[in-house]
Amino acid sequence: MIEPVSAFSRIGEENAFAVLARAVALAQGGADVVNLGIGQPDFATPPHIVEAAIAALRDGHHGYTPATGILPLREAICADIARRTGAEVSPDRVMVVPGGKVTMFMAILMLGAPGVEILYPDPGFPIYRSMIEFTGATPVPIPIREENGFAFSAAEVLSLLGPRTRLAIVNSPANPTGGVTPRAEIEALVAGLAAHPQVAILSDEIYGQMTYDGQAHVSLLSFQEIRDRLIFLDGASKTYAMTGWRLGWSVWPDRLYDAARKLAVNSFSCVNAATQHAGIAALEGPQDCVGEMVAAFDRRRRLVVEGLNRLPGVSCIVPKGAFYAFPNIRDTGWRAKALASALLDRAHVATIGGPDFGLHGEGYLRLSYAASEAAIEEALSRMARFLESERPA
Ligand code: PLP
Repeated sequence: MIEPVSAFSRIGEENAFAVLARAVALAQGGADVVNLGIGQPDFATPPHIVEAAIAALRDGHHGYTPATGILPLREAICADIARRTGAEVSPDRVMVVPGGKVTMFMAILMLGAPGVEILYPDPGFPIYRSMIEFTGATPVPIPIREENGFAFSAAEVLSLLGPRTRLAIVNSPANPTGGVTPRAEIEALVAGLAAHPQVAILSDEIYGQMTYDGQAHVSLLSFQEIRDRLIFLDGASKTYAMTGWRLGWSVWPDRLYDAARKLAVNSFSCVNAATQHAGIAALEGPQDCVGEMVAAFDRRRRLVVEGLNRLPGVSCIVPKGAFYAFPNIRDTGWRAKALASALLDRAHVATIGGPDFGLHGEGYLRLSYAASEAAIEEALSRMARFLESERPA
């Protein structure tokens, strides 16, 4: 029998895609499903970005590009980083990749191996743990706690670092909780890392432009002292409503950059050329589209949090970033995954059970509020009816 090598018995996936498939199947069967499951903006990509891709195709940008990405895009990425974080980055350290995920895939592949420990947020984006296990490294969860507003605690991260730790993954603003880690914690983390020079950091800042209530996003790129071991992950998927285009980028330390380039050469060769031109238009064009989308998410955030807090047995802290609410559902008596499936099957509301983001996600649901206000209101009233009438088995 032909089978993949044993490492593939350890690779995981993202249940959000399975929930999406189930929601689509229910809808095809005639059900009116409200989808607060998948984490993607419900907006169309802004027209000037779409036009730039069309123009690139018409202008003959049909061929391979350098594996690291075309220079004007890497320069636009550096200018964007400088504008938002004040950090000076050379285009020679920037890799253009097909989506934010690819940076974590590369970083974990490069640094994970049996005998190595890798820290990752729990609850957190499921691909971190999946890839850590794939490499044979030991996953060490960083608990992300509601009592900290779902920010990570620098002291807790530092307490988990040991002689075998090679990589620590942090994510702020965070999926699935919407937590934003404040400056003081980030500074404490950077200061504490001085005692652990062998540890690289992967900072997933894909939601970096999505913060609310005046909460500032603090980029790890702005700390020069860890630049030689920081892998910075960002991309266009969330900021510019471009999830299907597959456009991400990363900044790598000197010593890892060539390995990243070689992984690109050995796999995808380059991001498709028209998408790269769209990326230039996104970064160099008017940024009002970002502000408008974030303002819409902010309104929906209030709506979803107010509505969740009115549901029996549910409480939800106000998320400060990204576009997710992570309500505590313990007092409903339901286990989180059972509630998520019952809501989908019986109330036709798609959400994701917290345990799909790690063991510390039990007791919570994730709702993406990247959906219309009408959809959010409908989902909340269906959830209210459901929780008032149905009891866990
Ligand atoms: N990082 C986090 C925290 C995410 O939530 C996501 C997508 O949901 C990604 C990375 C991956 O983004 P992309 O779709 O660009 O691969």
